[in-house]
Amino acid sequence: MRYNKIRKMDISNGPGVRISIFLQGCEFHCKNCFNPETHDFEGGREFSDESIQKVLDLCGLEYIVGLSILGGEPMHPRNIEGTTKLAKAFKEKYPNKTIWSWSGFLFDRDLKDKEVMKYIDVLVDGPYVDELHNPTLRWKGSSNQRVIDVQKSLASNTVVLYED
Ligand code: SF4
Repeated sequence: MRYNKIRKMDISNGPGVRISIFLQGCEFHCKNCFNPETHDFEGGREFSDESIQKVLDLCGLEYIVGLSILGGEPMHPRNIEGTTKLAKAFKEKYPNKTIWSWSGFLFDRDLKDKEVMKYIDVLVDGPYVDELHNPTLRWKGSSNQRVIDVQKSLASNTVVLYED
């Protein structure tokens, strides 16, 4: 897996002050994607155990409330193993901090049985649809996307939307 960038202080991708990592590679090619430089699986830089350690160290700062994993596509078959490793390591170290992630795949159709879902608190799912863009939406770009409380959804075997 490769990644595009790590943001050391992000206040726009999830609640509070967070660390964000943008993974590299996406095949959805949504029209007017906000992050086209992340589409090439060969772009960016290598994601290694040192990258995980760097993210974990940054997340240890007291004012950081969690980690946001974006793309690119964190749940693409070429990336999901690395995403799982990162999310698992984060939750083992910081069980009281949250992971938010964004994916063009659908939670109930594609992702609910994947190991990585055990570690994710909130998933914004579905591709970005430019025709459904609405700048007033919170945490998502188009109205087809859902902000999902993953742990409540897994426990109840339905899709439970996140409420803040
Ligand atoms: S899924 Fe996300 S990164 Fe991929 S093309 Fe769509 S908006 Fe861009």
